Amino acid sequence: MRFETLSIHAGQKPDPTTGAVMTPIYQTSTYVQDGVGKHRGYEYSRTGNPTRAALEACLAQLEAGEFGLAFSSGMAATDTVLRLLRPGDHVLAGNDVYGGTFRLFERVLRPYGLDFTYVDTGDLKQVEAALRPETCLVWLETPTNPWLNLSDIAQIASLLASRSPRPWLAVDNTFATPYLQRPLELGADIVVHSTTKYLGGHSDVVGGAVVVRDPELHERLAFLQNAVGAVPAPLDCFLVLRGIKTLPVRMDRHAANAALLADFLAEHPAVAQVRYPFHPSHPQMDLALRQMRSGGGMISFVMKGGEAAARCTAEATKIFALAESLGGVESLIEVPAAMTHASTSGSQIAVPPGLVRLSVGLENVDDLLEDLSQALAAAERL
Ligand code: PLP
Repeated sequence: MRFETLSIHAGQKPDPTTGAVMTPIYQTSTYVQDGVGKHRGYEYSRTGNPTRAALEACLAQLEAGEFGLAFSSGMAATDTVLRLLRPGDHVLAGNDVYGGTFRLFERVLRPYGLDFTYVDTGDLKQVEAALRPETCLVWLETPTNPWLNLSDIAQIASLLASRSPRPWLAVDNTFATPYLQRPLELGADIVVHSTTKYLGGHSDVVGGAVVVRDPELHERLAFLQNAVGAVPAPLDCFLVLRGIKTLPVRMDRHAANAALLADFLAEHPAVAQVRYPFHPSHPQMDLALRQMRSGGGMISFVMKGGEAAARCTAEATKIFALAESLGGVESLIEVPAAMTHASTSGSQIAVPPGLVRLSVGLENVDDLLEDLSQALAAAERL
């Protein structure tokens, strides 16, 4: 089945008892047993729940994986992957990963004995130079949050293939979604998502996911999922499943709107630099065209007027809501240095205060253009 069909049907069948077309929300913590230790596939909802099982099967198929695991947040998914490692192990990560990922690595996991190095993973030479014998995991985010920098997943996967022991390659595919980018097909071992974003798609749920192909890796991650317990509630699984049904349609519109806004911003006198993967000014546009189906719905831009201009623009929009997060049907605007990426302040991955990030929604693009135009005009009047 093709992606659009999978996004509606994968992992889901009409409910066998009632024929309900939508997967029921199995709001139960436990399940009756037919005899001691004789259950019907489910014993306790931290370990397994039918609504979650449907979501996990759906995620696995969408990412061309074998096994999906759902979590209570993207950070819980990331944390669970990192628990595969032991003290003394080394992780090589991109130098502009999501601020919360950096905070987890540096402030929670480093004190537990993991070591992290951050390089520009868009540059294969830097990746090669930073690998060590004890490197167990390479962590990519592509496109990155907020710079929309890219890494060549296939190239890095083939670099790692020649190493012994071979580090796992994990890709945070939150920005691209499986509709735009296929990390497992490009050689990655692990795909991670914040399902809070495009997969959920309606800003009404927080969730995370991990997808793999290798049964042994799945067994270890499923053990951790149950042992650590950061599982999503059945209602949240239902909401993500429902969101996924429209993922391809939404992503097409997000990208069409974003491409027009990127063109507009690139020409605007108040804007110093625009970042959008499919815009000709993006230094890795060739890679974007090769690796992604479209440029997606995220745009970042640097204001010539710096911090004051960025803050003014973000506060002056009327349709773009000033808010963290991304990937919902509504357009959002934010200043990463003061909001989503405040935790990177003063670090090697800090972002400039004049950077603005847009999550371009599904509104009429002319309304979005007019809104941005009046907000930038307000910043120019400062
Ligand atoms: N990965 C990326 C790329 C993100 O943007 C985010 C959140 O913004 C996360 C992971 C963390 O996800 P969550 O907020 O669902 O924990």
